[in-house]
Amino acid sequence: MARFCVYCGSNDTPENPVIDSVCLKCRIKRGELVRLEQNTYYFDICKVCGSLKIGYKWIDTNDFESAIDYIVRNFIFDKIKSVNGVKELRIDGYNYITTPSWHTDIYIIVSGKYGTADFRVPLRITIYFRPTKCPRCIMYDSREYEALIQIRGIYVDKLKKILEEEFAKEPRLGRDYIEAIETKNGIDIYFYSHGAARKLARRLSHRLGMSIKENYEITGTRSGKQRTRLHISLRRG
Ligand SMILES: [Zn+2]
Ligand SMILES: [Zn+2]
Repeated sequence: MARFCVYCGSNDTPENPVIDSVCLKCRIKRGELVRLEQNTYYFDICKVCGSLKIGYKWIDTNDFESAIDYIVRNFIFDKIKSVNGVKELRIDGYNYITTPSWHTDIYIIVSGKYGTADFRVPLRITIYFRPTKCPRCIMYDSREYEALIQIRGIYVDKLKKILEEEFAKEPRLGRDYIEAIETKNGIDIYFYSHGAARKLARRLSHRLGMSIKENYEITGTRSGKQRTRLHISLRRG
């Protein structure tokens, strides 16, 4: 029995396949082929550094453009729903309808196959950003911290375990510790004192075979004495 579309009566052809009694053209016209459950999304963005918050994680983006790019490529794709018969779904790119800002309209270009036929359709979304301050910028602004260890290029779960062990071994580290903030590819650890940061950095460097680089930043004077912040960077190789 010939397959035909229940909406327009078209027969099944390679260019306009009929699947589950609906042809490609009618799927597109009816907005069923690919769709998003919601077309409006809200995200927190750091007004100081441009980092983007997705779920509980802060992503190292710099501005509206890079935040939108991250959202489209890493967040939106999983939200795309399609009907039976759609395969090889992908995001080909996107176009701004409005200039990237606190409120941005975008067409996301989605392509794939419906049966044997290729398709390419735009999906319109609106992204709203809410201005906030990320934990890192709050920390940078605070007068409190005296030292920062930045560890990059390591599997964070493994690192967390090692940190717990080191903190358990050396109570002084815990006393001078302020906060650890996870970044996309590592972790930043803040301390009240240079000594604790340096001690932990040496231990980590030894255990992980990472190289240490130290830098000082002059942050002002207190009672006639110059104050400096210690920045320690731990990297592979
Ligand atoms: Zn049809
Ligand atoms: Zn920030």
